[in-house]
Amino acid sequence: MSAESGNLQLRDLRVELDAESGVVRAIDGLTLAIDRGETFALVGESGCGKSMTALALMRLLPENGLVTGGDVMLDDPSQRGQRTDLLGLPEAAMRQVRGRRIGMIFQEPSTSLNPVMRIGDQIVEAIETHTALRGAAARAKAIDWLKRVGIPEPERRIDEYPFRMSGGQKQRVMIAMTLAAEPDFLVADEPTTALDVTIQAQILDLLRDLQREHRMGLLLITHDLAVVSGMAQRVALMYAGQIIEVAEAAEFFSAPKHPYAQALLRALPAADRRGLPLEAIAGTVPPLWQRFDGCRFAPRCAKAMAHCPGTLPPVVKLTAGHEVRCLLYAPGGDAGPAAASKAQMPTPQPSAARPEGAASEAPLLDVQNLCVRFPIRSGLLQRTTGYFDAVAGVSFSISPGQTLALVGESGCGKTTTGKAIVQLLRGVATLEGKALLEGRNLFDLNGDALRTARRDVQIIFQDPFASLNPRLRVAELLDEGLAALQPDLDAATRRARIERLTDQVGLRRDALGRYPHEFSGGQRQRIAIARALAVQPKLIVCDEPTSALDVSVQAQILNLLRELQRELGVSYLFITHNIGVVEYIADRIAVMQRGRIEEQGTCEEVLSRPQQPYTRMLLAAVPRLALLPA
Ligand code: SF4
Repeated sequence: MSAESGNLQLRDLRVELDAESGVVRAIDGLTLAIDRGETFALVGESGCGKSMTALALMRLLPENGLVTGGDVMLDDPSQRGQRTDLLGLPEAAMRQVRGRRIGMIFQEPSTSLNPVMRIGDQIVEAIETHTALRGAAARAKAIDWLKRVGIPEPERRIDEYPFRMSGGQKQRVMIAMTLAAEPDFLVADEPTTALDVTIQAQILDLLRDLQREHRMGLLLITHDLAVVSGMAQRVALMYAGQIIEVAEAAEFFSAPKHPYAQALLRALPAADRRGLPLEAIAGTVPPLWQRFDGCRFAPRCAKAMAHCPGTLPPVVKLTAGHEVRCLLYAPGGDAGPAAASKAQMPTPQPSAARPEGAASEAPLLDVQNLCVRFPIRSGLLQRTTGYFDAVAGVSFSISPGQTLALVGESGCGKTTTGKAIVQLLRGVATLEGKALLEGRNLFDLNGDALRTARRDVQIIFQDPFASLNPRLRVAELLDEGLAALQPDLDAATRRARIERLTDQVGLRRDALGRYPHEFSGGQRQRIAIARALAVQPKLIVCDEPTSALDVSVQAQILNLLRELQRELGVSYLFITHNIGVVEYIADRIAVMQRGRIEEQGTCEEVLSRPQQPYTRMLLAAVPRLALLPA
């Protein structure tokens, strides 16, 4: 990829990591250029080298990492035309560059905040180090920054320590501290991934304002293509340590050229893809300890040609500013650019319509005025000194074979609602109201009736690894719940059901003899789904089941959940903050805020004609991406 101009240039950058499996070429010849005032987005799935690029340019690589080639050139604003190679600077000089010239925001704020220093002192230190402000003026500026990043009561909270703040607040303090130095460039690595959509919108607006005010250049690293489409002027897509396409953002999203870029955009869930299988990208990113003789994407590419596995694709310049690393576009390529046009993309076919739960049908689950109250304990003896109402009078119902999406910001009570229904809060919180499953109130059950109800209602969590016992093989994990909840089944019947389940969730039979750590995140989520399905539940509470997954893996899991609903008629209570997923999978939506349901209705009603101000505000804050037609 070319980098003929730009105030910050990375040229042919190469980074190697010394890993157990050998030398990993994490970045393999990366070139890009960013101007002041521009937002340049680096996108791609996990493990493609995005974060490593940021760390290399900041010279903050982990101990086992080494830059083995290339340079990082930064314009010197005091001497026109002069540039400094950051990789050649002594560490003391590089420390001057970090902060004032190039700031960095990480996804994980605890790495940047000093836990034993008040947050105000940390921000004031950044202001005094990098600007002319001192003393009271610097403190006033720090309060202003806290306000700008949305910290409530900044005058009071400036004197707090980081441990008193939530994860999202720490993230905002770290953003304030970085921006307070007014850097010329900002490297933002998943800056808003951990934040709620409303705070995310506020932070993204702030970054846009700063660009206008200070002509700050922004290298935005994210896997969230919707955020990119609203922020970036240019986009580079990484795959297996290389940039494989770079283009103006509008062109990238309307006419991507690389088969991987096209497949990624087709894998995104959205309303106009309801009833259609999403385009999941088969296979995984290749390990980077190997030498490549051909295209790295070839084993997964739907358009691979005979010579692709044995030929290194060159970078082809399509137009000024649009380059792609693919043999389809190379001179003498078998097909040429026309082959990858949108018209020739495989169009997914609608699968048979899933049975829509008829409105008149008796609900499978009928939640009536659910209240969940947690005790607040304090003092040495942990006495109960008060109560906190996490859920305060929630009512909704789910028909057989239907999906209800429960949406809202973190802390609104949606996960607590799900856990109450799955009976995970017995003895932990006080439950009031009713959760009627086919007419039986789940909160009144005991003994055999409770065991049956536990079989009927299962849960899948966001982090499958945390919910799978690492000491058990997959077969044992699946058998555990089955033996406990259906003790009447003999071992041979259980084994037969487990084998059928592995087929249903798309795992190979040999997976049964392996441990959870031997699988990828998407495969582990399949194991968690198989475990939930093992006892043939009627309802599955899906708590953010795809939010930790890459887009292509998310597509596989959403396809699987849809198919299973079609085949087995299972209902889902789908807890999520991702409106694209909701539009794709849900029949109905309930919007929660502060323990109450603000609004509920069909997807169409709530998303197209929201009635409540909170719903309107939430939907307005969600970044949207205009997608290619499916
Ligand atoms: Fe697919 Fe070949 Fe292009 Fe690689 S070079 S992306 S295998 S068409």
